[in-house]
Amino acid sequence: MTKEIASLQRTKEMLQKHGFSFKKSLGQNFLVDRNILEKIVVTAKITKATGVIEIGPGFGALTERLAQHAEKVVAFEIDERLLPILEETLAKEQNVTIIHSDILKADLHATVNEHFEPGQDVMIVANLPYYVTTPILMKLLENHLPIRGIVCMIQKEVAERISAKPNSKDYGSLSIAVQYFAHVETSFIVPNTVFIPRPNVESAVISLTLHEKKPVQVIDESLFFDVVRAAFAQRRKTLVNNIAKNLSHSLSKELIEKILVELGIDPKRRGETLSIQEFAALSDAIKKRL
Ligand code: SAM
Repeated sequence: MTKEIASLQRTKEMLQKHGFSFKKSLGQNFLVDRNILEKIVVTAKITKATGVIEIGPGFGALTERLAQHAEKVVAFEIDERLLPILEETLAKEQNVTIIHSDILKADLHATVNEHFEPGQDVMIVANLPYYVTTPILMKLLENHLPIRGIVCMIQKEVAERISAKPNSKDYGSLSIAVQYFAHVETSFIVPNTVFIPRPNVESAVISLTLHEKKPVQVIDESLFFDVVRAAFAQRRKTLVNNIAKNLSHSLSKELIEKILVELGIDPKRRGETLSIQEFAALSDAIKKRL
């Protein structure tokens, strides 16, 4: 019986057979531990009814396991060299479609419409390339896709930033952006020993479940994100200074101070102390003065 793809033996065989060399620039760290795959599938609550979009199948380690549990898997791989290898490793899986594309350029609404049924349970699952974690996550969230959520392996340090709460050193615009769209859970920490080659950092699997109702309703979503970005532009500066200097709209320091005082927010506070609700109130108040 052929051993599963997620094993050191099989991965080494494939590397040798195809003369494959890992590209660090594409974040290629492949999983060689079956237990991690099982935990990812369980965390994502994949059933025979679930449609899965995978990002970066690599040699197909996670893809193989997903295909065995899901209704269908559609996987986006940027590296052309992996296409013939995936054809071979996933030859037995009838419910896998590989798309040769950069996930950042893909039309994911079209993918969902083409490959999945209306109303089907759809999850995005990935061992993400670490060099583009944030742009990928933000694209997946901002696109308002009809999905249940995202379960992905990322750098532990980024997982800490995503799940951070106000008044902590990790809390920033990424925490707010992701928590605005989804309920965040860090499911488990992963040592670097389960990858080949081993990354220099620890990893974590996070689970993002999209909110049915967002934690805050804002008048203007893009202004809300602009206010958040401005507030954290220079972490050591006060809120009022950061907003006055970094907001795309130009507002006087005096007016910002007045708005903050009216909202009961001390202008001398720093961005990292504001809750998502306070940011929403602030962006709505600014919107009314524009
Ligand atoms: N899923 C495999 C595994 O767990 O063993 C490989 C994961 S590896 C961390 C990341 C994969 O994403 C690589 O196969 C890499 O070529 C691919 N990749 C990198 N950037 C990508 C992008 N922008 N779009 C699609 N795939 C990408």
